[in-house]
Amino acid sequence: MDKFNFTIIGAGVIGLSIAFDLSKTFNHIVLVEKNESFGQEISSRNSEVIHAGLYYQKNSLKSRLCQEGKVFLYEYCEKNKIPFRKCGKILVAKHEQENELMNLFMKAIDNGVSDCYLLNKENITNLEPLAFPGKAIFSPSTGIIDTHAFMKSLKQKFEDNNGIISFASKVVGIQYINRMYKIRLSNNFEFISEVVINCAGLGSTEISNLLDIRKEVFLCKGDYFRISPVPKINHLLYPLPLKENTGLGVHVTIDLGGGVKLGPDASYVNQIDYKINERKASDFLMEGRKLIPSLTIDCIYPDMSGIRPKLQKYGETEQDFYITEETANGYKGFINLLGIESPGLTASLAIAKYVTNLL
Ligand SMILES: Cc1cc2nc3c(=O)[nH]c(=O)nc-3n(C[C@H](O)[C@H](O)[C@H](O)COP(=O)(O)OP(=O)(O)OC[C@H]3O[C@@H](n4cnc5c(N)ncnc54)[C@H](O)[C@@H]3O)c2cc1C
Repeated sequence: MDKFNFTIIGAGVIGLSIAFDLSKTFNHIVLVEKNESFGQEISSRNSEVIHAGLYYQKNSLKSRLCQEGKVFLYEYCEKNKIPFRKCGKILVAKHEQENELMNLFMKAIDNGVSDCYLLNKENITNLEPLAFPGKAIFSPSTGIIDTHAFMKSLKQKFEDNNGIISFASKVVGIQYINRMYKIRLSNNFEFISEVVINCAGLGSTEISNLLDIRKEVFLCKGDYFRISPVPKINHLLYPLPLKENTGLGVHVTIDLGGGVKLGPDASYVNQIDYKINERKASDFLMEGRKLIPSLTIDCIYPDMSGIRPKLQKYGETEQDFYITEETANGYKGFINLLGIESPGLTASLAIAKYVTNLL
């Protein structure tokens, strides 16, 4: 039977980042992915924003790994010619939300995000004439990235370091025998691994449950609508985050292809289904007009959707990323990553370093 030192489950941005990081030092690493290619799930269905870390609980993994990951990601993009733009973000509040805006600003400063500052009406109009002229926070180091190019580059580097990727390989069984993991794939192929790293995104609880480590992840869907004709904006425009800990609020994102999108909204769902409800157009218009008041219904079209793996139910306190070696549950060498929602893309390289250090 084949034996590997490390098995990574899931070739999304997290699995690829970990695979690349480990392959710098170790060998005999296999990355198994159930789809025919990499990054077909959460990692290709998001806003592609490099976050600055304004929102998260102080000292949480989300906060620390987002800020560290942002620095790593910009460095990686520059070094490896991955398309990105540090376009900056304007987080706009209405008059009655000014206290909330100030609280968020103080939280960001307290979290160590030292480069953001406040804008008044005139500043906003000068920077972004189409934006709602309220009070705002400006985050100059927020940006956008070509996620596909980033993942492709990680995959290439992993393979250059002799890492093996097995596509169309769904993990359906894991047994812990004599301090080793026996892994079974859907095609009945079996192999042994010393370490297993679960970064299966929306499938991560299924993997965790194979070892009877019972964890629940809740699915929270976000739809996007495209704006066409494209409004002339140069910055990302965000509202204040949602109070129910479901998301950052419908925002206006620009992408590197020159498109502009509204989204994502947030609704808890029971199953994975990426269809978009076209009747939501008027809700998106209402949210969009809080950021660009001149938007009209005839310029909003359904675009795509993504699904967040959340550790909390609707309305519950926001949970941190769960990244743990499951020794306490009796599984030494099994690293479990659950609830890797936003800012997972931003944090990906820092998460990889964190996991390598756990080992
Ligand atoms: C709507 C939305 C917007 C977001 N916006 C941003 C943003 O702007 N900035 C940001 O930083 N983050 C953002 N995020 C978060 C970010 O996209 C995720 O944190 C990140 O992509 C998660 O990557 P992943 O590798 O964990 O998951 P995935 O990309 O889903 O990868 C997991 C992989 O595991 C595979 N898999 C599952 N089960 C098995 C199995 N049994 N066997 C083998 N393989 C399996 C899947 O096929 C998949 O390829 C957003 C997320 C969403 C949903």
